[in-house]
Amino acid sequence: MMYDVIIVGAGPGGIFSAYELVQKKPGLKIAVFEAGNPLSKRHCPIDGEKVKTCIGCKTCAIMSGFGGAGAFSDGKYNITNDFGGTLYEHIGKKTALDLMKYVDEINVSHGGENTRMFSTAGTKFKKLCIQNKLKLLDASVRHLGTDINYVVLENLYNELKEQVDFFFLTPVTSVEYNDSIYTLHYGKDDTATCKQCIISVGRSGSKWMETVCQDLQIPTKSNRVDLGVRVELPAVVFSHLTDELYESKIVYRTEKFEDNVRTFCMNPNGIVVNENTNGIITANGHSYEDPAKYTENTNFALLVSKHFSEPFKDSNGYGESIARLSNMLGGGVIVQRFGDLVRGRRSTVSRIEEGLVRPTLSATPGDLSLVLPKRILDGIIEMIYALDKIAPGTANDDTLLYGVEVKFYNMEVDIDENLESPYKGLYIIGDGSGVTHSLSHASASGVYVARKIAETL
Ligand SMILES: Cc1cc2nc3c(=O)[nH]c(=O)nc-3n(C[C@H](O)[C@H](O)[C@H](O)COP(=O)(O)OP(=O)(O)OC[C@H]3O[C@@H](n4cnc5c(N)ncnc54)[C@H](O)[C@@H]3O)c2cc1C
Repeated sequence: MMYDVIIVGAGPGGIFSAYELVQKKPGLKIAVFEAGNPLSKRHCPIDGEKVKTCIGCKTCAIMSGFGGAGAFSDGKYNITNDFGGTLYEHIGKKTALDLMKYVDEINVSHGGENTRMFSTAGTKFKKLCIQNKLKLLDASVRHLGTDINYVVLENLYNELKEQVDFFFLTPVTSVEYNDSIYTLHYGKDDTATCKQCIISVGRSGSKWMETVCQDLQIPTKSNRVDLGVRVELPAVVFSHLTDELYESKIVYRTEKFEDNVRTFCMNPNGIVVNENTNGIITANGHSYEDPAKYTENTNFALLVSKHFSEPFKDSNGYGESIARLSNMLGGGVIVQRFGDLVRGRRSTVSRIEEGLVRPTLSATPGDLSLVLPKRILDGIIEMIYALDKIAPGTANDDTLLYGVEVKFYNMEVDIDENLESPYKGLYIIGDGSGVTHSLSHASASGVYVARKIAETL
């Protein structure tokens, strides 16, 4: 089968590549290969009732399938160059922001019309933060919510399936290059060919991406890992911030080690959830747009970035080992009251039950100081006290900490200002390139390459 363009991966990067190609060049022969299921068939067996631990499905329904890793996410669509990736380093800050806004308009017109856009612009919080040694990063964020995010994806799929050939449950196994033609291998002995190929395989395709880079000798460099905890507290503690900003990305520089600790993925009235990456259970969180599904708590992660220098290269392996330790001690995620952590004692079922914060995730009470390295834990404790100054109550004894939360990053692939690899016509985008780490940056990278390809065809 010969196509004009083949896209590998149907996450936000792949979806918006296909969407924009169809807008700019209707009639092109486009194929999307996806390792996972169509959206309607994505279902994780860990339903919180019968199945509690990962049973190692062939393709993980949380990370793979139409919508990619973002399909069941909170759908926080951040429009900013301050975080979420470094796309702007390749395509420029203005272009990056314009593309993120363009994708936001598409999301709004495909089911997100009643969702709200929040912004840090003109608020009093920047001053309040800086007066307390905290830095509030600039961003506009649209909260789609897990429910509306699904609707938007469903609408996009229904539109695209008429003009694009989707191959689900079809991982591409290898990519060959000969005389300006890319041959993609899949299935038993099947192949598809094209002159323009977009690879957007996200975090779940990171190992495969490494083999493609090795096979084609595309240079890469190793990246970082972010480690920390998910904090859960009564929603009223942060409501002055979340009502106006929804999500506040705040950075604190620790006094002891001069490390940066930051808030990540804030979910007002949300729930804490388990996340399963290759059988390792870590904490995450999300929230619904529908007020009927609100809880009385807000959750957010506190993360410390760890960059390693030579000779150590396996930053993700380091993060995995720490997460494994928490799984070994707690059989999954561990939960601890802040008061117990600072007093040097483990939390117990009764201490959690007596506390004022009702946990939204059933995790094992334990001691996070037996899991997280001292440097990281000290930074998190310092930041909780700093946040307590702008949101009094953060450092209450009953504040819950779930550990561990880990953000894995892909290695960075050598791509130029067109997001094109050293091979002409081979574009590597989204989280799989190591350049983006968010819905907005990944989607924007898809639109960007689609336009570049449309110019050449
Ligand atoms: C639980 C969770 C919550 C999140 N919440 C948010 C949020 O609120 N806001 C935000 O900005 N970001 C969030 N993120 C991150 C966001 O989802 C990702 O940054 C984004 O999805 C990256 O898009 P992508 O297209 O690059 O990759 P992905 O979304 O990972 O998609 C890649 C796709 O490629 C497929 N694939 C992999 N290898 C192959 C292969 N060999 N052949 C064929 N297909 C392959 C995979 O199955 C997958 O479907 C969240 C992530 C998770 C896991």
